[in-house]
Amino acid sequence: MDEPSADGARQRYDRGMALVRGACPHDCPDTCAFHATVEDGRATKLAGRADHPITAGFLCGKVSDYLERVYSPERLLHPLIRTGAKGSGAFREATWDEALDVAAAGIAQTIERHGPESVLPYSYLGTMGVLQGGAMADRFMSAIGASGLVRTICASAGAAGVGIATGQSPEVDPEEWPRAKLIVCWGWNPMSTAPHLWRLITLARRDGAKLVVIDPFRSRTARVADQHLTPLPGTDGALALGILRALLDAGLADEEWCRANAVGYDELVERLGDYPVERCAALCDIGADVIRTLAHEIATVQPSLIRLGVGAQRHAGAPIAYRTVACIPALAGSWRHRGGGLSYIPRAATNALDTGVLQRPALQRGTPRSLNMSQLGEALTDPDLSPPVTSLVVWASNPAAVAPDQAQVLRGLARDDLHTVVLEHYLTDTARFADVVLPATMQLEHLDLHWSWGHHYLTLNEPAIEPVGECLPNSEIFRRLAARLGLDDPAFRETDEQMLEAVLAAAPESIDPADLRARGFTKIDLGQGPLPHAAGGFRTPSGKLELLAAALGDQGIDPLPHYHPPAEVADEALAERLPLALLTPKTHLFLNSTFANGVRQHAAQPEPMVYLNAADAGPRGIADGDRVRVANDRGAFQCRVVVSDEARPGVVVAPMGWWNTDYEGGVSPQVATPQLLTRLGEAPTFNDCRVEVARV
Ligand code: SF4
Repeated sequence: MDEPSADGARQRYDRGMALVRGACPHDCPDTCAFHATVEDGRATKLAGRADHPITAGFLCGKVSDYLERVYSPERLLHPLIRTGAKGSGAFREATWDEALDVAAAGIAQTIERHGPESVLPYSYLGTMGVLQGGAMADRFMSAIGASGLVRTICASAGAAGVGIATGQSPEVDPEEWPRAKLIVCWGWNPMSTAPHLWRLITLARRDGAKLVVIDPFRSRTARVADQHLTPLPGTDGALALGILRALLDAGLADEEWCRANAVGYDELVERLGDYPVERCAALCDIGADVIRTLAHEIATVQPSLIRLGVGAQRHAGAPIAYRTVACIPALAGSWRHRGGGLSYIPRAATNALDTGVLQRPALQRGTPRSLNMSQLGEALTDPDLSPPVTSLVVWASNPAAVAPDQAQVLRGLARDDLHTVVLEHYLTDTARFADVVLPATMQLEHLDLHWSWGHHYLTLNEPAIEPVGECLPNSEIFRRLAARLGLDDPAFRETDEQMLEAVLAAAPESIDPADLRARGFTKIDLGQGPLPHAAGGFRTPSGKLELLAAALGDQGIDPLPHYHPPAEVADEALAERLPLALLTPKTHLFLNSTFANGVRQHAAQPEPMVYLNAADAGPRGIADGDRVRVANDRGAFQCRVVVSDEARPGVVVAPMGWWNTDYEGGVSPQVATPQLLTRLGEAPTFNDCRVEVARV
């Protein structure tokens, strides 16, 4: 079948067949480009684009049968109004007019009684599209004066940390990764969570690169790595300090590069006097010799690349840990080499698009408070919160399943005086608590534009089919809610196409809208070249890599790399009662809670489990396959145990994503995770958590 025409128009074929360009909308760094085949109005095939440099012609196991999701008999096709108790899932079908009237009346009533801040929006990257993920929704929330939502549930701790050292600088472009000869995946399992970025690592390995994985859990990536290091959760900063010290001890520190392109070299050298390798080794429980060998390889097997994931930044000390890791390529001299250096979230690319024209901050009414999305439980149950949250509008997220301290979240969602509106595709754990459920379109049914948090491409998503059932785009739902609440600014009458035009018209020179329209994707040109920082050029206050960050000192934070321990995991008193650390990584076939209701995906991962090392299972009388109760002071969940050295001693690994209804007792591992936020980045600390495990 031919490609779409070069002018970007939908290519039409005989017998009503068309090939339409799209983008995977899910919260995944790969942001794949696909083609949907449409025959007589029905999508019949979805295929990853072979001409997209990252997608490379395939979709992952989560999305490859996406059409099953689009046409699923379980999909919500009509608006619903609750008829039973909250959480019961009892609803009746309603017309759009009735459902929107009820939704809007609830919001209006809450504003009248408690003021606009009593309305709380709740969304994340259930769709990463700039039109359907925000835009009209942002305008709506701004114009009514709703509380703001601090959307930091994912990568913000790490971003804050890396940003201290390197600013919002270009990282190593993933397309350069195949040149690396040593790749360290730190807290990252790309085989499961970024299979297309993983492909680029496999290209490097094919040319002889060594892969080292740092992860307390033996993930799929760790299983196939050349070397797997298993630090105690939350001690990555100690490991990084040990590597830095080992570089100095071995005379491998690239003093010349640091003096030319970094600030604070002498201060760092002095600081590392406090961190002998043996001390760091004891903190992270990795052998001192192993640390020395790794440091030697990072400096001498060039290009060496460290790719940080989000897994290691879910603890209280993570920002400083990531800031410390980001200093390693400086001392190792890795930025001198093409393909060498550091990659995390490519923030220079993710922030290239000016979305202000979509959000329209000028519509903002008042200066409302902001509530953090990872403290939803507190926001919904704190009796002293003034005004209380009495109206919750949720889209592109499933907080009942994924927000920490789940028991408190569920108590909040069950409040009779909370008016909840949920825009969704399926009756999720959160939707079951809604007063009104509004059926939203899926990716083949609407227009959107997608950035990536893994690579440098913007990707266009064109509507391929008419909405299934009565579904409407999120943008249209908020337009209609705005009309009901009397919001008459012309901004609420803009079409999706007009919003797309506006955001592309406002695009900086690094983005080529014509190329995007012509090909369906375009690479953001950051001007970084093959050696982005061989001669410095960091976007920091000093213009150099900041081994010493004066801005931290201004905030009363130690400006040099140091060990910032985790909170709960390092609490020795708590450890006497709750001796095990809990990790909640993503699974291979679910993306957070998305796809956990997929027929194929669920059949392949039919029930939740925890991994427990034999050294921890034996003394507790726990055998492989037993049902266990994992508990702490916040709550307890139950599931099957796999006794295995996939988990290192002292750690329980509870892969997350199954819906609450898959667990005995109706709560998932998030019942045990804390609402504590990191100081820098205001991010959650899911992996900074202590529990005990017992057989049931
Ligand atoms: S979930 Fe990720 S890997 Fe899978 S198709 Fe979407 S973007 Fe690609």
